Amino acid sequence: MKNLYTLLIISFFSTQSLISQFEGYSTNQWEKQLEVEESFLGLIDKTSFKKHLMKLTERPHVVGSEGNEEVIRYIGKVMKDAGLDITNYPYDVYLPNKPGSSMVEIVTPSRKVLNQKEDIIYDDPFTQNPELWKGWNAFSGSGDITAEIVYANYGLKEDFETLNSLGIDIKGKIVIARYGGNFRGYKAKFAEANGAAGLIIYTDPKDSGFTRGLVYPEGPYYSSSTIQRGSLLTTDFTGDPLTPFEPALPLDGKKKIKRLDPRDAQLHTIPVTPISYGEAEKILSQMKGQPVPQSWQGGLPFTYRVEGGSSLTVRLKVDQKIDFVRATNVIGMLKGSEAPNEWIILGCHLDSWGYGATDPSSGTAMLLSLSETLGKLKENGYAPKRSILIAHWDAEEHGVIGSTEWVEQMRDELNAKGVVYMNFDGAVSGKGFSASSAPTLKKLLVETSKNVKYPYTDQTLFEFWNKNDQSEPPIGNLGGGSDHIAFYMHVGVPSLSGGAGGPNLYHSNYDSFRFYEKFVDPEFQMGPMVEHMAGLMTLRMANAELIPYNLDRYSQDLKMHFENAVKKINSYDKNFQGFQATNSAIKSLYETSTILTSKIHSYLEGGEISRKNLKKLNKQLIALEKSFISDKGMYFGAWYKSIYASSDPFSGYGAWILPGLEYEIALKSSERLKEWDTRYSEAINSLESKMKNLIQEIN
Ligand SMILES: [Zn+2]
Repeated sequence: MKNLYTLLIISFFSTQSLISQFEGYSTNQWEKQLEVEESFLGLIDKTSFKKHLMKLTERPHVVGSEGNEEVIRYIGKVMKDAGLDITNYPYDVYLPNKPGSSMVEIVTPSRKVLNQKEDIIYDDPFTQNPELWKGWNAFSGSGDITAEIVYANYGLKEDFETLNSLGIDIKGKIVIARYGGNFRGYKAKFAEANGAAGLIIYTDPKDSGFTRGLVYPEGPYYSSSTIQRGSLLTTDFTGDPLTPFEPALPLDGKKKIKRLDPRDAQLHTIPVTPISYGEAEKILSQMKGQPVPQSWQGGLPFTYRVEGGSSLTVRLKVDQKIDFVRATNVIGMLKGSEAPNEWIILGCHLDSWGYGATDPSSGTAMLLSLSETLGKLKENGYAPKRSILIAHWDAEEHGVIGSTEWVEQMRDELNAKGVVYMNFDGAVSGKGFSASSAPTLKKLLVETSKNVKYPYTDQTLFEFWNKNDQSEPPIGNLGGGSDHIAFYMHVGVPSLSGGAGGPNLYHSNYDSFRFYEKFVDPEFQMGPMVEHMAGLMTLRMANAELIPYNLDRYSQDLKMHFENAVKKINSYDKNFQGFQATNSAIKSLYETSTILTSKIHSYLEGGEISRKNLKKLNKQLIALEKSFISDKGMYFGAWYKSIYASSDPFSGYGAWILPGLEYEIALKSSERLKEWDTRYSEAINSLESKMKNLIQEIN
């Protein structure tokens, strides 16, 4: 009986959906919304993106540097001129904001000091700026060692296990590992845990370099002197290493925050530094002994070896000071005309390792242009109904710090007001398009992309993105590595991240405006395209009468993720019967969410709804995602409170959906599966009962 009812609702809903195109809107409001969207498109100034990008990338801008202060002032001014209310949020974060001194030297068989900085290119003035620094890894330990070499492939957990099984002694040696496969901090963590005395990281040409295509300045791939910089921070929480769960408010401020003693912070102690493949070759080519497993072979023209042997010794010296550095987020707000306490939040970080043309400034420039367009839209009489916050985060590069401190500071407000967080880190870095999303926002991405034109073709963004003609373009799961982490994984604000990508000179001194203009998008059409997409998503979330979460997506995605998890568990525990309680909770959620979706639709079509009622219902909608927030958090780190999603604690960048289960799977354990069946089914039941309450409210 229930199933038949569901079927009827579905067919009713799909015919209706031809008229009312988007959830959360009545037909009437949707027509008005289409007018707003058309007006928005007409107001985009297509020259604005390029202008801002050029300005933002004049100087290198590491957190705490003079260049970064300039960027912070510029962002504030542009958004203020656009009509947004600006607030700066300062923090004192414990981090190294300069490389300090370092050296890499082959000592025997013959002495050679290795180069640690990109070459100057004669006709590229950006490469000649004295403000550019050498390659470095923030949060390296300090030390001066001379030792033999061991090659550890990507420095994954598995790679060190392979070395152990090959009987290779790492203790006291310098590990050399290539970038890729995991967050670089884990390479340091695993090297240190295995007794290494130091770590050198380089980018192999097989991963970005001449084996991929032409190298800079002739093409977009790493040249033999290009170096990836980056942080090594790997605490079991995200943000400032001294203030887990708390905002790192200024030391001289009114409110005093208790900080950890730096000696108790989870920091690496071994020296670590990055070099280019041109310099790594000088070490790797002199190694002796057994060849590497086949998959470890890189793109340099000789057989890679696991050990260097006793005749090859290398000196690695790093002296890096960690101290309190002021980081400042800049947030502009367009106050909502009807629901100012419901927040649509967009963000991208502002700090970078060098000029940061693709990462992050292409995202920053897009957001600045977007704030101008939204400001003009408001002047034209189309103020957003909900508040729109455009956030520029500082200290992201050191460990996603600025956004995390802000979320920790605003925890209670975000619980009540946070409708959505959309991340646009480096969002215009090429001509491809990709996105990752929470279940309830996938439809927003897909439907909006149908109304955006992709440049250089006759296609819509949807057609371009959905190359394989599936029912839906590929949408990834949100992992680690950027500013959505605290929103989604710590407080449970539904999040998405999206944008254009392509080959680029990630975290190197060559990621400049010059590079952008030559190889990323010489015609500067991708910036306005991403702005159009981001703007439409923002306006759809901001103006709907009821927040347009795609509520029946939860059960669909949960079902798939649980099936995957059971398969993985069965690979080491054949007797495991599955998650009974959770399965029935998902079934029940499916039925309830289908009913709710259709009820919302008829409720919206039923005539004018009072603002008071909308406010009450939207408050309940905001609370839905919080069902997955658990006070106890994860066993690998209590700061990760979402039992729905986290970053992979063994690699950093990867996404773990159902992290409670993924952790057990990583440990090949069945011990806590019963507990997780209870925790997951309780969360899903709580989500369902909130939906039932909503059904009652609108009946
Ligand atoms: Zn970035």
